[in-house]
Amino acid sequence: MTPLESLALARGTVDRVTEKRTDREWLAAAWKDPGSRVLVVSDGQALVRADDERVELVFLPPKQAPEGTRFLLGQDQDADGVVYFGVSAALPVAPDGVRVASLREVGALLGDRDAGLLTHAVALANWHDTHTHCPVDGTPTVPDPGGHLTVCPVDGTEHFPRTDPAVIMLVTDPDGRCLLARNAAWPGRRVSILAGFVDPGESAEQAVIREVAEETGIKVTNVRYVASQPWPMPRSLMLGFRADAPAGQAISVDHDELAEAYWFSRDELLAAIKAREIALPPPVSIARHIIESWFGGPLPSTWGETLPPRRGS
Ligand SMILES: [Zn+2]
Repeated sequence: MTPLESLALARGTVDRVTEKRTDREWLAAAWKDPGSRVLVVSDGQALVRADDERVELVFLPPKQAPEGTRFLLGQDQDADGVVYFGVSAALPVAPDGVRVASLREVGALLGDRDAGLLTHAVALANWHDTHTHCPVDGTPTVPDPGGHLTVCPVDGTEHFPRTDPAVIMLVTDPDGRCLLARNAAWPGRRVSILAGFVDPGESAEQAVIREVAEETGIKVTNVRYVASQPWPMPRSLMLGFRADAPAGQAISVDHDELAEAYWFSRDELLAAIKAREIALPPPVSIARHIIESWFGGPLPSTWGETLPPRRGS
């Protein structure tokens, strides 16, 4: 499997059964079914059971679920049609062996089913938590029973979950070196590829060209899409790109956004990581996957890893 086929948050095995979101009878029957499973999420976090072997989400039967905004996540067609709901509410007290974890923390450790469910649930819960009023007249909105729509009781307008597109791009020069930068807000040795939000009325490719030029002064060509993954923290969709930097350009860093930016050959990147001069984003991020895809294989080091102990070699 290549790195871009294993994007941590772009997985999932549960059918979203979008046609059921408006089927009130089906939704009511599924909520009454003790075999249905409810994932409670709060501030991007959920309960997980973790041991040395695996990390799994903890689900509740509907009767034990706390009051909160409810939404349909989907139905597992491979497991007797088990229906999954999410509820945005304070997390229940964690029993022994269970702990609270964020999507960022466990997104890459969960299995395919659970990674998909948690990503979907966190995205919807974040939307419900922050979009509580009608943008037309300010009236509190009412969630539809399926939870993928809210309605204003005064003017009847319907409101749907929001996603903010962002571009993230690996830029290479004619010598095959890639451009890595340290954000001004990041501590220490953290570096990554460039990223930014798509402006209103702008295409993703235009955003790539604009963001690279704004942040580093480099004008790129041959912008091409590689992969995407949701990043609901709180509501982004990361669109991954590669782009070429024609020869003869000097880096001119925008110090409002970046602390520094440098070209790295594959050998220089590996050497800088091994010398602990830089650290790469964590495996849950699309940035890590795009860098490893360019590099040609897995790389050591991650942001936030503790220093030392240093592993042998
Ligand atoms: Zn309204």
